[in-house]
Amino acid sequence: MPQRLARAAEKKAEPGVQRCVNRACGATYGLGERIYLCPRCGETLEIDCRLTRPRNPDALRRYWAAKTASKFPRDGSGVWRYLNVLPFEDDAPFVSLFEGHTPLFHAPRSAQYCGLSDLRLKHQGYNPTGSFKDTGMATAMTQALISGARTAVCASTGNTAASLAAYAARGGLQAAILLPRGQVSPSKLAQSLDYGALVLEIDGNFDACMRLVQELGDDPSIYVANSINPFRIEGQKTVAFELMEQCAWQVPDHVVVPGGNMGNSTALGKGFQELLDLGLINRLPKLSVIQAEGAAPLAHLFASLTPKQRADFDHLPEKLAPVENPQTLATAIKIGAPVSWKKALRAVLRSGGKIIAVSEQEIADAKAMIGRDSIGCEPASATTVAGIKKLAAAGHIGRKDDVVAVLTGHALKDPDYMIRYHEGTLTSAAAAKDASAPPKPIAGAFQNAPERVSATKTAILASLERRR
Ligand SMILES: [Zn+2]
Repeated sequence: MPQRLARAAEKKAEPGVQRCVNRACGATYGLGERIYLCPRCGETLEIDCRLTRPRNPDALRRYWAAKTASKFPRDGSGVWRYLNVLPFEDDAPFVSLFEGHTPLFHAPRSAQYCGLSDLRLKHQGYNPTGSFKDTGMATAMTQALISGARTAVCASTGNTAASLAAYAARGGLQAAILLPRGQVSPSKLAQSLDYGALVLEIDGNFDACMRLVQELGDDPSIYVANSINPFRIEGQKTVAFELMEQCAWQVPDHVVVPGGNMGNSTALGKGFQELLDLGLINRLPKLSVIQAEGAAPLAHLFASLTPKQRADFDHLPEKLAPVENPQTLATAIKIGAPVSWKKALRAVLRSGGKIIAVSEQEIADAKAMIGRDSIGCEPASATTVAGIKKLAAAGHIGRKDDVVAVLTGHALKDPDYMIRYHEGTLTSAAAAKDASAPPKPIAGAFQNAPERVSATKTAILASLERRR
């Protein structure tokens, strides 16, 4: 019954298409064509699933809700249970590690820190490899198998690499990963090695790795799995669907995400837009993106837009000035030339959100505050809470607004950062823009250094008393 209901309710009178995001071009391509940029104009692509508005939105909501209790293995995936809004047929070679189904936490200490009465954190770090990349990698590796590729390749600041390594192995594909040498957290590198990927360290930054990957994409045996890949965005968009279910379909006023390569903000924007088009929600949440000051090309562009330009999201600026040498300790968003910037900017402008930057100090303290909420996250994720604090201070977010921040990576993705923050030895990479300048120390407002104590009960009790 639920399956029949869903079939009647939506989707796929005809297969979807890949469409160029450049409105002036508007070229469309079949789903089976292995292209990552528009062959006609070079712009990025997005998938139009050709969803049709259901006659009964409630039936569709109930259909998804029923799947959480399903014994059908595919429904154990928080991505594949939304198959009827994804560009795949029922008999696709689904790759899954039971991704999705991530928690939505109340974070009272972080809320107070931001000056809000409540704040909820949707933690994508609870995915199988510890980051938000897994939802999109489930769909990308499925598409790689459909396309007949032998190897899946990506450039990565770490999280994508770990996720690709795991999902490629699961799907029986070779994984090859291009990393900027010496710029990736050891935990993430360790994951990629453990999942059996071929790890290639490049002398250059992330953007150099990205250029190489695009060249490799010409080889028919190779499937490119960076967020330039529109099939990854499809898996990641399901986070919007899952979040709305968790919010009992009450649309939050604001959804706030970190901004690196902009795949996440693009995907959430697409997800919310489709929910609106399907009649499942009645308005868009304001989608805001937070970048680190040393790697904030889109925040710079956003700040330069006039109110008229912000209102005209169908005519986006043609160029984004890249940050040549991006610097931030939040390595997951250390990206100076984000590939999906145009799609992300359009989603933000359409929703009435903002794109701003926060400092290394603000990120570090926000991260510690999320830790105090017993939640924890990697540094890049903490840009959200730092950004919400700023947006609340500026009046863009109201004290009683319903706000959800998306955390993108698990705390253990970067333990070295945490230890250095709490021991007081963390220094800002932003200073490294000028090689002659000494690194700037980050004074942890919520520092919690380990204490050396003599091996006696009295000494331990005295320590406990001091900290009560
Ligand atoms: Zn085009």
